[in-house]
Amino acid sequence: MIWDTHAHLDDSQFETDREIVIERAREAGITTIVNIGHTESSCSEAVKLAGRYPFIYATVGIHPHDAKDCTEKTWELLLKLSQNPKVVAWGEIGLDYYRDLSPRDVQRQVFIRQLELANETGLPVIIHNRDAHGDIIEVIKKHLPSAGGVFHSYSGSWEMAEELLRLGFYLSFSGPLTFKNARHTLKVAVNVPEDRFVVETDSPYLTPEPYRGKRNEPGYVREVVAKIAEIKGLPFERVAQLSSNNAKRLFGL
Ligand SMILES: [Zn+2]
Repeated sequence: MIWDTHAHLDDSQFETDREIVIERAREAGITTIVNIGHTESSCSEAVKLAGRYPFIYATVGIHPHDAKDCTEKTWELLLKLSQNPKVVAWGEIGLDYYRDLSPRDVQRQVFIRQLELANETGLPVIIHNRDAHGDIIEVIKKHLPSAGGVFHSYSGSWEMAEELLRLGFYLSFSGPLTFKNARHTLKVAVNVPEDRFVVETDSPYLTPEPYRGKRNEPGYVREVVAKIAEIKGLPFERVAQLSSNNAKRLFGL
């Protein structure tokens, strides 16, 4: 059993061969894919895709890049979509101070609003954090998600990871863990408790070695599992099982 807990299969990069990519993932042993919404239209597409495949789930949420375009209508749409039984989380939401595509105060407002919506709907959250460590910790401490959540593609320090684990969050590892310069993330992956991590691709982005440079796809999540198995000194199958059990617990499935 292997879960890819974070993919963007609705992305236009999969326009011409989406079904083949999904089929390849199944052949690679991927049992479940969580397709992540990040804009109004991608949330709708994610729910549609999840409706077509029993092993694909969806999430709804607005990425910090698009925080500036949110209106009350956005929340009406997302609340409606969140009623669908295949929707398992609210996200991806958070703060991105690296690209700063929305003003930071707007990012914070929209993030807080969505943490509240997640609590109203009883869904766990999927958090995106880039160069916003201090603010993100401050916000989540004040607005703790009642159904828990995950920091996706975790790339922070072990010190921050310890704080997030204390707050009850899961940590998700992705392709960059397989890169040569992954020292800090490797330390986090070695130390993370066996019951608190999941794996993801973030397809079509963050392609792991040895496919780096190509488009990422859910089947490649095996490389992330293999890396964690190597550094934790565990069999591949054991890491696949642990991360899948953790994903099921996180998403309440
Ligand atoms: Zn993503």
